[in-house]
Amino acid sequence: MPQSSPTGTLVVGAGQAGVQLVGALRQLGDDAPITLVGAEPHPPYQRPPLSKEFLTGAVSADGLAFRAPSWYAQQRIELIVGERVVEVQLPADGAPGTARTSGGRTVRFARLALTVGARPRRLAVPGADLDGVHYLRDLDDAARLRERLPGTSRVVIVGGGFIGLEAAAAARTLGKGVTVVEATDRLGARVVAPVVSDFLLRAHERRGTSVLLGSTVVGFGGTRRVESVRLTDGRELPADLVLVGVGAVPRTELAEALGLECDAEVGGIVTDAAARTSHRSVVAAGDCTAAPHPLTGEGRVRLESVPGAVAQAGTAAATLLGRDAGPRAVPWFWSNQGDLRLQIAGLSTGYDTVAVRGNPDDEGFAALYYRDGVLIAVDAVNAPADYLVVRKALAEGRTLPVEQAADPGVPLKSLLAG
Ligand SMILES: Cc1cc2nc3c(=O)[nH]c(=O)nc-3n(C[C@H](O)[C@H](O)[C@H](O)COP(=O)(O)OP(=O)(O)OC[C@H]3O[C@@H](n4cnc5c(N)ncnc54)[C@H](O)[C@@H]3O)c2cc1C
Repeated sequence: MPQSSPTGTLVVGAGQAGVQLVGALRQLGDDAPITLVGAEPHPPYQRPPLSKEFLTGAVSADGLAFRAPSWYAQQRIELIVGERVVEVQLPADGAPGTARTSGGRTVRFARLALTVGARPRRLAVPGADLDGVHYLRDLDDAARLRERLPGTSRVVIVGGGFIGLEAAAAARTLGKGVTVVEATDRLGARVVAPVVSDFLLRAHERRGTSVLLGSTVVGFGGTRRVESVRLTDGRELPADLVLVGVGAVPRTELAEALGLECDAEVGGIVTDAAARTSHRSVVAAGDCTAAPHPLTGEGRVRLESVPGAVAQAGTAAATLLGRDAGPRAVPWFWSNQGDLRLQIAGLSTGYDTVAVRGNPDDEGFAALYYRDGVLIAVDAVNAPADYLVVRKALAEGRTLPVEQAADPGVPLKSLLAG
């Protein structure tokens, strides 16, 4: 069997965090061998367009690559794709660690990073295996959906989170009849305040999407292909394509096999602020982790965002090289749902007050979140200037007075200057 580089760093998972991490190692001057192993059969690519421009056909698969194929060789990064790391043994007693891949390869390493991401949460209901019931996590999922969409007219999206709403907007752009079925009583409930959920509901309805709140899917009808979606209240929605977007489950199986601490409550491989796992020679970054709140250091959060993966991967690279990564950046996130641009900075969990700037029905407003009178986050819809001011305030550890922040006549920037 082929043998890979004897020492250096092994990065398992060639997604957003993995590619960022290997690039950061080289940028920080690491000269040792680096091996990046990815289970998917594609060169590393960006995931966000998969539920947006890729679905509508505005972007092709070639346009998704993070780096030109030559970049990896230029950086002396051994990139192995289409092989899953199935077993790992950590370095011990002066001997290097070893990893075995599904392709029968053995990779030796001195340092290990886990950037294995997450898998879509599956619905365990009758009919879930029918043809036409889709999930959306990777390029192959998105390619199947994109191929199917033209031949369909009734699309049902299960889950009113961001991926579901982005895909709903893309399907509407393609002229499909779209129904979003959400189990809770509002959209985006895990992340945004009721005022933003209400806005999302009205905005998607204005664009022709039907939204059913408080509706749980109990099964899918059809013989070979999906033909309907059954709800708890007995309703049966006709459907010729279903997309299930009900969250993602962090991949912890390798970490668990290594005895690394994983969080039973929020899920994910537990890391500290420096991206170290419970084993001192192993770091982890991205969607597979549960890390302390980046700004407060409290609790454990799963950020599940590109900026979160990028920031944590940079920290992990510094830690692997024994450097201080410096303070963590303000967490931020975006979700483009058709022509709606939602930008989020900070984490709103635990807020007690929301100041709304502007009228949500004008489709340009910002919701600023406060806890104990202190600004902690913003959701901005088509309001990039307000978003940037709050992000800056959070980065500088400052707050903005709530009464004035709620007054759209007062430019937020002026409050920051004060
Ligand atoms: C459809 C979609 C749209 C999104 N849109 C946005 C957005 O608009 N804005 C935003 O901020 N975020 C968005 N996200 C989230 C963002 O893409 C993720 O947070 C980010 O990709 C996380 O990066 P990661 O490296 O942790 O995981 P991933 O990008 O999932 O990469 C992990 C990789 O590891 C591989 N892997 C797993 N196990 C193994 C193994 N044992 N051996 C080898 N390889 C392995 C996986 O196959 C995968 O390729 C979106 C996500 C999806 C799915």
